[in-house]
Amino acid sequence: MAAENHFNRTRIAPTPSGYLHLGNILSFAITAKFAAQSGAEILLRIDDFDRERTNKLYIQDIFDTLNFLEIPWHAGPKNMHEYVHEYSQVHRTEMYNQGLQQLKESGEIFACTCSRTEVSRLSPESIYAGTCRDKHLPLAHTGVSWRIKTDHHRQLDVRTTNGTVSATIPLNMHDFIVKRRDGLPAYQLISVLDDIYFGVDLVARGDDLWPSTVAQHYLAAHLHKSEFSNITFHHHPLINDHSGKKLSKSEGATSVHYLRQEHRTPQDIYHLIARSLNLKEMPGSWQELTGMLPFRYMPTS
Ligand SMILES: [Zn+2]
Repeated sequence: MAAENHFNRTRIAPTPSGYLHLGNILSFAITAKFAAQSGAEILLRIDDFDRERTNKLYIQDIFDTLNFLEIPWHAGPKNMHEYVHEYSQVHRTEMYNQGLQQLKESGEIFACTCSRTEVSRLSPESIYAGTCRDKHLPLAHTGVSWRIKTDHHRQLDVRTTNGTVSATIPLNMHDFIVKRRDGLPAYQLISVLDDIYFGVDLVARGDDLWPSTVAQHYLAAHLHKSEFSNITFHHHPLINDHSGKKLSKSEGATSVHYLRQEHRTPQDIYHLIARSLNLKEMPGSWQELTGMLPFRYMPTS
């Protein structure tokens, strides 16, 4: 159990493409609990590389919401000024591009012209069928994405709070994208490089991101970044909406921003999270909330 271990640094990494919702807060609360138990400091990493989806309103919302709910962080931007001038992922563009270059030189990258719609048309589960694997399209063309030729049998060891889990690349990550059609490095690559750059050794994230965690291990191994395999991952259950679907940023009613406009207090927010997790008691803080959670969830694969 992680509680007995010491960790140096964990992180909360919101994407500023919408207001933070209750699901984000649960993840941050769990991260804060692990940090408090293990002596780790918390890094705030704002995942803003997708400039088109990033909105300054949502970045300010991150600072406001963390402060409102008294969720601490010790490294990373403390305010908008530090974010813009020091911590935006734009400042690390060169590092990401070096990663892409290294992948290209590995010879395991291919160009793909399939749109998301085309992939879905061939597979209802959006599993990439290897359509462009052997087309040998030029990598230098604009409007192509870069995919990595995944070896579907390669065993990857993922260190988790429940021990080491051996996994192969999940179906929905077959030949996953490392560079997007718009030319930007893809999320998995950015996240791996950032976690190494910032010295993160503990990550708590939702169960739904297990395929992403395995893909990141695949990428790190391919890039010979062995430090990545020293990171311990904890995958926690998600808060679902009334219909059992995972919460998304488009649902305003579960955003903390909306709830604050309705004059809800921090206690109200923690109560709502507890209720959606079917907890019997009502917590008044993230410390009380996480004290009520059993920390023995196995990742789903
Ligand atoms: Zn393709």
